[in-house]
Formats: sequence, C-alpha cells, structure tokens
Amino acid sequence: MGVITQRPKGTNDIVPSQVYKWHTVEKLAAETAEQYGFREIRVPTFEDTGLFIRSVGETTDVVQKEMYSVTATGDAQFTLRPEGTAGVMRAMLENGIVNEGFPQKVYYILSCFRHEKPQAGRLREFHQFGVEMVGSADPRADAEVISLAKSLIDRVGLRNIQLNINSIGCPNCRADYHRALKEYFSARREELCDTCKDRLEKNPMRILDCKSPVCQSIAAGAPVIIDYLCDDCNEHFKGLQDNLSVMGIDFEINPKIVRGLDYYTRTVFEFITTDIGAQGTVCGGGRYDGLIEELGGQKTPSLGFGMGLERLILTMEKQGCDFMEPKTCDLYIASMGQAASQRAMAMAMELRDEGYFVEYDLIGRGIKPQMKYADKIGSKFVLVLGDNELETGKAKLKNMASGEQTDVTLDRSFIDDFSNALMSEMFSGLEEEMAGLLGKEQGKNG
Ligand code: ATP
Ligand code: MG
Repeated sequence: MGVITQRPKGTNDIVPSQVYKWHTVEKLAAETAEQYGFREIRVPTFEDTGLFIRSVGETTDVVQKEMYSVTATGDAQFTLRPEGTAGVMRAMLENGIVNEGFPQKVYYILSCFRHEKPQAGRLREFHQFGVEMVGSADPRADAEVISLAKSLIDRVGLRNIQLNINSIGCPNCRADYHRALKEYFSARREELCDTCKDRLEKNPMRILDCKSPVCQSIAAGAPVIIDYLCDDCNEHFKGLQDNLSVMGIDFEINPKIVRGLDYYTRTVFEFITTDIGAQGTVCGGGRYDGLIEELGGQKTPSLGFGMGLERLILTMEKQGCDFMEPKTCDLYIASMGQAASQRAMAMAMELRDEGYFVEYDLIGRGIKPQMKYADKIGSKFVLVLGDNELETGKAKLKNMASGEQTDVTLDRSFIDDFSNALMSEMFSGLEEEMAGLLGKEQGKNG
C-alpha cells in the first residue's frame, strides 16, 4: 500500500502562506455582523440525520444526493452538516434563545459538507459565513439581513456583484402555484429525470432547481411563483423593495430564484458574480417562517443567509482585492557561540513579553545562513550577537529594508531603542506609501 499523500477529492488545505486571506474575510465578517448586533454561535459539526431531512427537505438535492451520513455504534444516524441554518436553529431552540427578547440575531462561520461533483467554486467541504435572525416578520428585517451581506461584500472590496431578489410566497399562495407547476410539468413528464418524476408528485417546486440540463430547459418555461403571490405576500415583497431603496441598495427582481432548500418562504435572494465562472452565487438566503415550527417550536418568523467563503475569496482574488497583510517578524537575533545564543534566547523572551514578534536561530547555523533566513522570513530588523558584543555590551541593529545599522546597548535601554527604531521604520513605510499615493493623484490631475 502506498503512502497516503492526497487529500479527499473536493477538500482543500489552507496552507500558512494563504491563511491571511481567510483571516481577512473572517475578521471582516465578524466585525460586520457585530456592528449589526449579531453575536456568534458555535454548533456541532454533525447532527441527527433527521434534523436535515426535516428542515432542508426530503426532496431536495442536498438530502437526496449530497449528505455525508455516518452510523455510529448503535443505531443513531448522524450527518455532517450540509449547511448552517438547521443546526443553528436547533441550537437556538434547545438553548431557549428563541424564548428570549426578539429579534434574536446570531452569526456563524463554519464548514459544510456536501457530496457534490467538485469543480471551481464547488467543493465537498466548504465554508460559510451565515447569519440568522429570529422573531421578526417585518420586511425591515429582510432588508437588514440583505444589507448586512451587502456591507460585508463592499467591505472586502468586491465590485460587480448583483443582488437578485424574489418572493416564493407562503403556503397559502403555494397551493395554486403547485397546481400550475404540476400541470405544466405533467405535460412533459416523460422527459424529466427520474428524481424529478418523483418530485412532480411530492414537491414540484424542486424541479425548478434540478441540475439536469433537460429538466433545466423544461423548467425555463415554467410558471413563476411571483405571479401567484397572495395579497399579504405581495405587500411584504413590496415592503422589502421599498426598504432596500431607502438603504440605497440596488437589486433586481429575478422570478427564477427559488433556492435549493425547502424551508424558504417569501423573500429569497442571491448575490451573484460573473467573475468566477458557473458557480457565481456567492451568497444565498431568505426567509423561513415555518422552520422553527417544523423543528417542534412555536411558529416564529426567521430569516438569514449563507455566504460561501471559498467563492468570496476566489472572487476577491479575481478582482485583485486587498487582503490584510500577515504579520512579519520584527526582530531576528542572529548569534554565534553558546553564550550569545543563550543571550538571544533570553532577549527573545523579554521582547515577546513586550509584544514583539521575535525569532532566533534554532538549528545552530553560522551567521551567514542566519542572515539569509532572517531575510527570507522578511524580518524588519536583525541584531547580531557574538562574544565581542557580549563583552562590550554593544551591538549593531540592522534595518533590513534600508541596510542602515545603528549602535545599541544590550541592557534594558535596548527595548526602548528597538521600539523607536521600529516606529521610525513604520513611519518611513507610511511616508513612502503616502508619497506613492500623492504621486498617483498628481499623475491623475496632471
Ligand atoms: P449552488 O446553487 O451554487 O449549488 P446552493 O443553493 O446549493 O448553491 P446554499 O445552500 O444556499 O447554496 O449555500 C449558500 C452558499 O454556500 C452558496 O451561495 C455558495 O456560495 C456556498 N456553497 C454552496 N454549496 C457549495 C459548494 N459545494 N462548494 C462551495 N461553496 C458552496
Ligand atoms: Mg447546491
């Protein structure tokens, strides 16, 4: 048997040189959510399989084709979460959060698992930033949730992302619509895929998001729900549009959006980009007023969205957006000889206590390879210690960017000297940046 050196198909490693991109979006996502009054919730990676069947829906692609289910010893059936909402709602119910003051607002960043055909922007393990709001049926809540997603999209620097909205009504308007769909699809029943033949009886709306090309082409001509909305749903949808306009958020009404999960009612929305190929839906969400009741709670309106972080980062990369620079080493202490190496160790401890990022030789290499390493890791400064430096109590601090060397004393005053050197280095970096920006401005004006 060979050595196992390949990750499972459809999964990703996030290596240290790339992780700053994730830190950027995770930090901005958390900050944005908190600004809107959402607090973080963390839930298990797996749940009872029944939870997903009940909430996501028996006839959905996710439940019928994409779940990773495991049987533990005994008969319990568990499933790795294919999405965040079901588990989060379960947790809000179980912990009594849905009985506290309304609205309740939570956010999460978590991994999801779906057994799909891997391709660009479609993985088997992917990550979502999501939010849930519980307790408001008002279209102001829908606009608020959409605006939160939009705010994050703006903050990470994305452009050319379209917001599409639709309303898929309530159980009242669905009855007529289901009838119309059944009639439409029955006429072409024989052409539908086997899954959809079954869906025709159980849940004809699910045919609308079947991935099979034939079903898709048939679905393209199907009646749209928006023509079947009851007065209340129409008014709600109109309210959402008014609120979005007040907030200055552009949108398009797309009557084809139905979303792939059963629990949606009324508002559904997607943020879509054309910059990353066919899997361009970066964020999808909407309202699910029946979900909590379906899970055994009191009927409580709720809504939210899930944003695919792989797709978000992919779009940011395509568009050349800025990410937060990873921290780099402030000081590398190069040393030669046993005594100097011990001194380097003690100094590093002291400087780290003061909050600095410090490294020193851990291999026992000569000064030259140590300098090379310091350069490679992008250390801002290097301090060289040898017997001579220990004896005189003086050493050279080298600024790696400018090559400039300053004399420093190896006592408590070193921390102040070093802190000053670091400050002036940061300042000169800023000056250069400003000069660059000014240059650009002048170029534009001139
Ligand atoms: P799609 O139509 O692209 O399959 P979906 O409707 O199944 O998406 P949701 O269940 O609404 O997706 O999940 C919310 C978001 O999570 C999506 O908009 C997308 O950004 C992301 N997402 C969903 N499935 C995957 C996947 N397999 N790989 C990567 N990201 C995904
Ligand atoms: Mg899908």
